[in-house]
Amino acid sequence: MHQTTIRNTVRCTGIGLHSGKQVEMVLRPAPEDTGILFALRSGSGTSFLSPKPRLVVDTGLATSLGNGHDHIATVEHLLASVRGLGIDNIRIEVQGRELPIMDGSAASFVYLLNQAGLRRQNKARKVLAITKPIVFERDGKFIKATPHDGFAVDYTIQFAHPLIGRQNLSMEVTPDLFSTDLAKARTFGFLREVEYMHANGLALGGNLDNAVVLDEFGVLNTDGLRYPDEFVRHKLLDFVGDMAVMGLPLQGRFEVFASGHALNNSFLRYLEDNAAEYLEERTLELPVVAPAVSPAKAPAKQPVPAGLRGQPAMA
Ligand SMILES: [Zn+2]
Repeated sequence: MHQTTIRNTVRCTGIGLHSGKQVEMVLRPAPEDTGILFALRSGSGTSFLSPKPRLVVDTGLATSLGNGHDHIATVEHLLASVRGLGIDNIRIEVQGRELPIMDGSAASFVYLLNQAGLRRQNKARKVLAITKPIVFERDGKFIKATPHDGFAVDYTIQFAHPLIGRQNLSMEVTPDLFSTDLAKARTFGFLREVEYMHANGLALGGNLDNAVVLDEFGVLNTDGLRYPDEFVRHKLLDFVGDMAVMGLPLQGRFEVFASGHALNNSFLRYLEDNAAEYLEERTLELPVVAPAVSPAKAPAKQPVPAGLRGQPAMA
């Protein structure tokens, strides 16, 4: 399997979840073996950051990365989109300290990446494969991983709320399924938490345009839910994004119960600390070169989620 990057540079602007202010993001193609590279632009210049489990500096409201000089918040939905679509190499330039929250899902990012188009590169894809079963459990929550050629997730959440309850979703995360079954699922929160955060100057950009907000009985958003089980779909989306901070794509089968950004990151740090026991870097074989008369098949075009046309504020 070949590495991929995006074909063209694309950009978008949107509101930052933390600040409530407008932030700008530019996505550019990147050479082979770059991985995911953030270029953080500020008044004093540009600093670079490649995601790693230990560079996750905050998981409170969203996942934030920091390199000691600069930090970038709310990275998980873009990282999920990049990984979900099978993009190995990309440069993410940001002006401001957070990525735009868009509509609280990954749909706008998937749309933007599809607008950019994907380009196959010459080198073979490298992955980090889980080599033996691992059970990571904290406070009744757990992530269990087993070896698997791909990225399969079985995710269960349990909330004492009449609209959520226990939800389970199991899938092999492929670019097509990521686009159709996960990308549109929005982040969610409870009204009492939102009120508390706003009163304390947090999540100033958070509102009903970029989150599903629940009171004790149901959903406050007038349009309701995008899927009956939108909650577990979003948690699975977050899991894809949180696993992407490993650098290389992870390969394995993951059974996840009640996890979140914090546990996801603790799990990755544990994996990294015990890499010799549980992980192996592998280079995926390139397909056999086809004869000149039948050129190698181009990667399948990603479907654009319905109803998104024109939604991202593209500059
Ligand atoms: Zn999320």
